[in-house]
Amino acid sequence: MIPYGRQDITQADIDAVTTVLTSDFLTQGPMVPRFEACVASKVGARHAVAVNSATSALHIACLALGLGPGDCLWTSPITFVASANCARYCGANVDFVDINPRTYNLDPIALKAKLEQADQNGTLPKIVIPVHLCGQSCDMEAIHALSQEYGFHIVEDASHAIGGKYLGSYIGDGRYSDIAIFSFHPVKIVTTAEGGIALTNSEELAARMASLRSHGITRDPEEMTHVPDGPWYYEQIELGYNYRMTELQAALGVSQMDRLDTYVARRHELAHRYDALLAELPVTIPWQLPDAYSGLHLYVIRLKLDQLKKTHSQVFASLRAAGIGVNLHYIPVHIQPYYRALGFNPGDFPESERYYAEAISLPMYASMSFVQQNEVVSALKESL
Ligand SMILES: *Cc1c(COP(=O)(O)O)cnc(C)c1O
Repeated sequence: MIPYGRQDITQADIDAVTTVLTSDFLTQGPMVPRFEACVASKVGARHAVAVNSATSALHIACLALGLGPGDCLWTSPITFVASANCARYCGANVDFVDINPRTYNLDPIALKAKLEQADQNGTLPKIVIPVHLCGQSCDMEAIHALSQEYGFHIVEDASHAIGGKYLGSYIGDGRYSDIAIFSFHPVKIVTTAEGGIALTNSEELAARMASLRSHGITRDPEEMTHVPDGPWYYEQIELGYNYRMTELQAALGVSQMDRLDTYVARRHELAHRYDALLAELPVTIPWQLPDAYSGLHLYVIRLKLDQLKKTHSQVFASLRAAGIGVNLHYIPVHIQPYYRALGFNPGDFPESERYYAEAISLPMYASMSFVQQNEVVSALKESL
């Protein structure tokens, strides 16, 4: 089976991890701060807080921005469930904004319309989470302008987008948001096995997230309520979690980051090749925004079903049967049973549901060969 995504592990990665194994620290040593500095300096953010997953990063980002019961968070229906669940962890409500039919990202026009309505009803969101689907940036200029007008915070779910650029600078630099999140799950662009990071230019938000990552405990006398009893002393000053990343993960991350630009360039090479090879087929290939350089985590095609004799699920099944590990990103979050139980229904976000009825993620990963890619294309042609 040619998978839809796969990690690339080199001897340098293996050496980096085994060096940590025989060192003094398996957790809470020097590698996590090194990884944080490495990611922050690469993308041009002032602060980074590495954690055990992007899901944890989304959670502490929402907490640091003060999201709580009675608040509302908005995101795209076409995302992994974690982009919405983070609000529920904080006791807040979730609502969705439909996608743009060309980019499949949260649509600023739909956002504006929904904000105008919410402004009248007194139901404005506290946080909006734009998701850079497939690695292509959302229209952050427009979303940021709306945040100024309506007073909401922005957390970018850039889980797909490390190494991608928007208007010439790296996604994650915080120019249009309060906090940006990357995921390091093995299918993503660079990996730490499990892992995530939150980037921000605010010293205050970074300190809040660092505290929430580790039980809400401080060792800084300035933050304590009384004079330390002795050198062992620490204080828990709020309720935090154990969301720490290990030294092994961070070492893998530092080593992988050396190849970030190469990985993204290779993904672009594969995408251009797909674009050319699929040009004559009854499918819509991904539309690339002229002012964005995608991280290209995913290569999603949409079937032109009116030109086909097969259904979406038949094409999907025949590709799987041919050994092509196609996937579908994503089932609209609002039609998940958990969200339906909260009052959402099919039909609520029609662009997202149309997308879901036609989309297929073709295999895309840095170590994929042209020969494997040709196999994918042949199987697709055969199926269509
Ligand atoms: C992978 C992913 C997440 C969650 O990442 P984890 O590191 O697995 O917690 C969140 N949002 C999006 C859009 C993702 O693709």
